Amino acid sequence: MLQALPLRLATMPESSPSSSSSSSAATSKPAPAPPSPLSSRQRRDRAVLLGLSLCLLLAAWGSVLRVREGMAQAQEQTRRSGLQLAEALDHELDIHVYNLLAMKYLAERFFSGRIRGAENPVIRLHARDGGQAYESRLPPQFGDPASLGRVTGFGPLPALDDPVAEELTMAVGLTPLMRAIRERSPDVPWVQYTSARHFMFVFPAKGAETFQFRPELLGREYFANARPEANPERRPFWSQPYLDAGDREAIVTVTQPIDQNGQFRGSVSIDVRVSSLQRGLAATPLPYAHVHLVDARGRSIVAVAPAPGQEDDSELRPHIRLRLPLKSAPWALELHLSEDDLLRSSLHSSAGHLATVLVLALSLGFVFTLTRKNRQIEALAQHDGLTGLYNRRHFDTLAPQQWALAQRQGWALGLALIDIDHFKKYNDHYGHAEGDQALRAVAQALQAALRRSSDLLFRVGGEEFAVLLMLTEGQALEPVLAQLNAAVRDLHRPHLASPSGQLSISIGATVLGRPTWLDLGAAYRRADEALYEAKAGGRDQMVLRMPPEPPADVG
Ligand code: GH3
Ligand code: MG
Ligand code: MG
Repeated sequence: MLQALPLRLATMPESSPSSSSSSSAATSKPAPAPPSPLSSRQRRDRAVLLGLSLCLLLAAWGSVLRVREGMAQAQEQTRRSGLQLAEALDHELDIHVYNLLAMKYLAERFFSGRIRGAENPVIRLHARDGGQAYESRLPPQFGDPASLGRVTGFGPLPALDDPVAEELTMAVGLTPLMRAIRERSPDVPWVQYTSARHFMFVFPAKGAETFQFRPELLGREYFANARPEANPERRPFWSQPYLDAGDREAIVTVTQPIDQNGQFRGSVSIDVRVSSLQRGLAATPLPYAHVHLVDARGRSIVAVAPAPGQEDDSELRPHIRLRLPLKSAPWALELHLSEDDLLRSSLHSSAGHLATVLVLALSLGFVFTLTRKNRQIEALAQHDGLTGLYNRRHFDTLAPQQWALAQRQGWALGLALIDIDHFKKYNDHYGHAEGDQALRAVAQALQAALRRSSDLLFRVGGEEFAVLLMLTEGQALEPVLAQLNAAVRDLHRPHLASPSGQLSISIGATVLGRPTWLDLGAAYRRADEALYEAKAGGRDQMVLRMPPEPPADVG
């Protein structure tokens, strides 16, 4: 058996015309608003858009991770190439250090008497500058001066048995080794021995016009810093780049102090062209990185760009600095990696992935536009052009859905048909255009009188409207209908061709749901009959016609 619905209307007698309801105070407690209908296509579209947006979000996040990983990889790859470069440079510099050590070893053997010079070099010395200085002059039979060294000293010409004679013999005795060093390393312009006792042996011979030893040379960085006071561990000392006195080209000098029986005597030095260091570094340019060879204090010795002619503006742009210390010298390779370049390379290598994201984004945009257009078309198909209300066609779609929903929820569904009174006369009296205005005004007034989003208003015919009202527990139909009547009345729109003098509507209504038993078609007919009754009863009123009770054995 169907239960009795606590709905006031259900207790009303069948076919009771009521122009003014005496029972409109039925809304005791506010009922929860039923959901407004959303078409299944809209729901599906939303799900598709949501799914695609999620995919896009995931893919975009994946791209960000991938690009960042690409940057880290490019940086690591550059660091590894930098380490290889540092190793190659170390190897090159180590050769100079080993050559210095070989000269030191030979010098010590001279000083210990294990090796002797062929002749006392003092016999080849000649005084100059009025006896203030001296130099070695070798006759032509000794060969090309370029294959020999030259002694220049400060002070009076030493005697043959002067203690400096032994040191001179040692220095000149280094000639074959110095020659071998120069032959092996074309980047070495000069090899020399500088004595604390104010002389210098330079290989190959520098002409008198470009070079003459002076005591102030002992104050030079490469000599002063190699002395035991500044260098107690007697390590090879690498100088800053400076301009060579003769050739005016940039060189660095590596210097090794030499002792005789624990007593500092002087130092052997190898000059290295800065241009050769530059060439060595530029032989394998690192992509994305400017390479700087810097000394212990961070001062730049040589800089190499990632591509020829590229200026290092890394100080101005965001960059990463990697410091790779050398083993052979107190220097380091400093790599300045441009973050822009790293990003560009990473974007380049992630191009496929990014293209996928782009295609996904475009597809999403396309689907989004399509969905919106669809919704617009759907809205056009569902709405009436004149009033903007849902049309008859949409009523035919929504009414069964609402009825099914009501049945699922155990609610009742109110159906009201509304017809403007004497509208033909209105048109005849005021004209069709004014009639259109009146239709719009009535539509607006009816819509405003319906408060809940689940109350659905339709224009189902020329001057006919329909209302579907979900009647949840405690919700009565009658007061709503009274509000609709009143809303049009309150327009106070004159209708001089009507007996009442004002525009008005008549309403015929019925209820589907417990305890009545009707299908939608029958309910529509019943509401129509009620409307007919309202018209017959004098118009500007509502008639609520309850359907018959179901037979006792049903349900
Ligand atoms: P009743 O009170 O019995 O309903 O009388 P009525 O004149 O309203 O009913 P009837 O069905 O005879 O006339 C309906 C009129 O509504 C006829 C038509 O001119 C008018 N109408 C229908 N659609 C429109 C419209 O879109 N615009 C205008 N201006 N008039 C319309
Ligand atoms: Mg009509
Ligand atoms: Mg009418």
